Amino acid sequence: MIKGIDKKLSYQPAPILELNDTRLNGLDLHLLLKCEYQNHPFISGNKWWKLKYNLEEAQRLKKETLLTFGGAYSNHIYATAAAAKELGLKSIGIIRGEKILPLNPTLAFAESCGMRLEFLSREDYRHKTEEVFIKQLHNKFGDFYLIPEGGTNELAVKGVTEFASSVLHETEFDYLCLPVGTGGTMAGMVIGFEGSKTILGFSVLKGGEFLNDEVKKWSGHSIDNWSIVEDYHFGGYAKTTKELEIFITEFETQHHVPLDQVYTAKMMFGVFDLVKKGVFKKGTTILVLHTGGLQGRSTREFNF
Ligand SMILES: *Cc1c(COP(=O)(O)O)cnc(C)c1O
Repeated sequence: MIKGIDKKLSYQPAPILELNDTRLNGLDLHLLLKCEYQNHPFISGNKWWKLKYNLEEAQRLKKETLLTFGGAYSNHIYATAAAAKELGLKSIGIIRGEKILPLNPTLAFAESCGMRLEFLSREDYRHKTEEVFIKQLHNKFGDFYLIPEGGTNELAVKGVTEFASSVLHETEFDYLCLPVGTGGTMAGMVIGFEGSKTILGFSVLKGGEFLNDEVKKWSGHSIDNWSIVEDYHFGGYAKTTKELEIFITEFETQHHVPLDQVYTAKMMFGVFDLVKKGVFKKGTTILVLHTGGLQGRSTREFNF
């Protein structure tokens, strides 16, 4: 008897708030925030939806172990470890870079969930998608259900598509804004909205042009009223600046909504900057998706 079979992750429906931000004073614009970061205490935001059907598939295949990849601060590693624990599955996290002790809060949490951590040099880590390498992992760890780095695959996109449909029934809006890492979440929203809304994805990476191809690849090319905004990466993935930190403090004080510096703050900053530049027409309603990631908030890397 395998423990994980038929168990499902708990889920807490998250509200949509209207943000009456002082920066919108005098403008005929509505800003709504879908607080998806509140959907689960540990498997929060988009990661819950990206894992949903992968976990079902792992259970269907009677896998006892999940194996996935990520950096030392990865929200995906954190969420996968928590999900495995909740469903009674084992988990292995292949972590990019050397092991540094004491473990940072992300990895300490993952380990406390029972995740086995294996550290790989950056050089070796590059081979993570190669067949030979995966075979070596199977030789070492036995049978497992593999989830790629960042959690993006077809089943992840399917989960987000389901979320997108539910959002459509919840409220009226014109634009959806969200942060983009691999493009999997954005692709799911594109499919789920079927072209009925304009989607702006804010790249959190420097050199995010490739995300256009990723979103196209996962969403199937036929819908095109979306774009990737590349102007708000603040120096690159997980980099931050004094300006971004000041923005976070100011936003949190005004709205009592926490932002993380890796994803949600960059997007939110970008949204207000586009508002300032007059990108949105009068009467527009912008729905912002808070994708979670707050576990990484305590470990800020400064860039000044
Ligand atoms: C992982 C993550 C993203 C990026 O999602 P992708 O599907 O990889 O684009 C965005 N926001 C948060 C908070 C995340 O943890």
